[in-house]
Amino acid sequence: MEISEYRQQVFDTTLALVDIQLIRLSAGNVSQRLPDGNFVITPSAILYKNMDPRDIVIIDSDGNIVEGDKKPSSEKALHLDIYKSRDDINAVVHTHSVYSIAFSTVDMELPLVCVELISVGGPVPVMKYVCPGLPEVGQEAAKFFADRPRLKSLLMKNHGMVAVGKNLDDAYQNAYKTEIGAEVYHLALQTGRTPQALTDEQVQEILSRYQKPKESK
Ligand SMILES: [Zn+2]
Repeated sequence: MEISEYRQQVFDTTLALVDIQLIRLSAGNVSQRLPDGNFVITPSAILYKNMDPRDIVIIDSDGNIVEGDKKPSSEKALHLDIYKSRDDINAVVHTHSVYSIAFSTVDMELPLVCVELISVGGPVPVMKYVCPGLPEVGQEAAKFFADRPRLKSLLMKNHGMVAVGKNLDDAYQNAYKTEIGAEVYHLALQTGRTPQALTDEQVQEILSRYQKPKESK
């Protein structure tokens, strides 16, 4: 596949996230891993509604620009460190989606209150606060993904959410599922009663019905 097609895929996924309001204005970023070991990533500080596919930047694993006129996302370290943490991760989506941010501010993980949160490997934890854009954001986030091989999303304290996937569509869906889970949990808490998480037995039953057999490496 041509580089322009990988760029177009990142562009399309970003606009799809704008459509469902997981990404607003210029907050949030998207990347994918290329077969040659480089990465395609959204540019920094661009209103996504004004973005052109040619604005998408190619960077190497140290964050240096390989191709592109724009600056790569200020969260490039977040993306690159997560890729280094697991070789099954080929796409990363970072959003400032409101329900996820809300739970991060009160340090509440998302318990397994619905099927969506099982498929992202929940309960979805909250990482500690780090100033957005610092390299430490990536180091902290990568620890969670390295420690929990099934984990596909993470809340970032007072900042947002990051979701990963085997490809861009998977990462997009995992971001969406996490935000749905956060919204469901929020609505359930409004009743004043305690939301009940699925039990271990119920989770195992769901996993055994829907999980594909593990591919041998
Ligand atoms: Zn951010």
